[in-house]
Amino acid sequence: MTAHTVTMKGREAPIPVGKIVCMGRNYVAHIEELNNEPPGAPMFFIKPATALAPLEAPIRIPPYSKKARHELELALLLGGKLFEAKEDQVYPAIAGYALAIDVTLQDVQDRCKEKGHPWEIAKGFDGSCPISAFVPASQVSDPQDLMITMRVNGELRHNDSTKLMIYKIPQIVAAASQYFTLEPGDIVLTGTPAGVGPLEPGDKLEMEIAAVGKYASSVAG
Ligand code: ZN
Repeated sequence: MTAHTVTMKGREAPIPVGKIVCMGRNYVAHIEELNNEPPGAPMFFIKPATALAPLEAPIRIPPYSKKARHELELALLLGGKLFEAKEDQVYPAIAGYALAIDVTLQDVQDRCKEKGHPWEIAKGFDGSCPISAFVPASQVSDPQDLMITMRVNGELRHNDSTKLMIYKIPQIVAAASQYFTLEPGDIVLTGTPAGVGPLEPGDKLEMEIAAVGKYASSVAG
């Protein structure tokens, strides 16, 4: 996998990626742990394709941050095009599911928010989206009923079901397509469950989303 492609299990050729649309604040317990306001409507931001990295590769924290945070999320890959889509058009357009980390530079994001600046440099930098191989959608019977689990150095961090999303997958993707045309090869990240925590050099990560996969990684240091 190069920076701009992802892989699909059972498929030889890598899949070129356009953009990564991410949903913020989509699990109630996570909104509470960060003292954020619940969104009145789905909240989106974008990572460029250069944010992608293999999930198994050590995560590189850029030198301008001293405080990185993990958010393990269910990612989905678009196989069809959606423009101003209705919710019933969403599932037929999803090609597969993967695990992705929305690596967030908390100190940088806080500084950007204070100044009212965009925070792409805190969430869209190179390597800010480690991602696993995709599993074909036909192999995931209910993506809205999957446990997301992450341990850091053996300590349990995330441990929640995708049932707890405020906006469900059809709502997220249909809403995103009102702003951004979603094309084959685009990826959508569905928000993090509670349990976000710091990433320190040398940390060992174990991650699992039921029916999608189980992976280990680390933080470079
Ligand atoms: Zn996130």
